Amino acid sequence: MIEIERLSKWYGDFQVLTDCTTRVARGEVVVVCGPSGSGKSTLIKCVNGLEPAQKGRITVESVDVTARGTDLTRLRSRIGMVFQHFELYPHMTVRENLCLAQQKVLGRSRDEAVAKAEALLERVGLSQHIDKHPGALSGGQQQRVAISRALAMDPVAMLFDEPTSALDPEMINEVLDVMVELAREGMTMMVVTHEMGFARKVADRVVFMDAGAIVEDRPTEEFFGSPSSDRARDFLSKIL
Ligand code: ADP
Ligand code: MG
Repeated sequence: MIEIERLSKWYGDFQVLTDCTTRVARGEVVVVCGPSGSGKSTLIKCVNGLEPAQKGRITVESVDVTARGTDLTRLRSRIGMVFQHFELYPHMTVRENLCLAQQKVLGRSRDEAVAKAEALLERVGLSQHIDKHPGALSGGQQQRVAISRALAMDPVAMLFDEPTSALDPEMINEVLDVMVELAREGMTMMVVTHEMGFARKVADRVVFMDAGAIVEDRPTEEFFGSPSSDRARDFLSKIL
């Protein structure tokens, strides 16, 4: 589904990614972890073309993200992205947040878009908040709205960048629960997170990054059972 091949990227003179290679198969859940500044956000931003890379290749369902001339708007409409800070449209109601791109990008009718929005909100237990603005919701509720908004586009894969890092501790689980359910339904997911409980529970593989490189890319149980690099061992000892 997602293939990242020998990807390297620079911000000016600074090399942020070095020769990164990994794959995410259809229905697979891959957790990306590693110290702050190791390039995790940059790597997943490259996957939906939010950041260009200078070397290497990324394909999503065989569409070359890194090629010039690829229709990135169309690509992004097929890959859901959820960020740390929700990034909902603050001046719109929850309903409008979920309908906008469905109508503008996918050309769905108003009725279709609203029906989809209602169904998704019901699933995450937020039906009663559909007329509210994001500011009236808790962080956990806003993040569930953001996940629903991404799902409204019927994405082929979902990318998450530290979706619970900005939340108060008591709200983390309500968001992780939605993600666990999504994973169990077979969604292809790439998740940057430090929630190792989540990783253990649903990840098929763990990718560990350090200083812009993929240091480990292994089945979850192997990664936690016997990390092969000192850097991963050191990282795990600090966060577990
Ligand atoms: P992570 O998500 O693992 O914390 P990032 O991908 O955000 O790492 O950042 C990796 C490195 O690239 C950091 O050193 C960061 O300061 C740098 N960086 C990130 N974005 C930019 C940018 N737009 N311009 C220059 N440097 C950046
Ligand atoms: Mg980051």
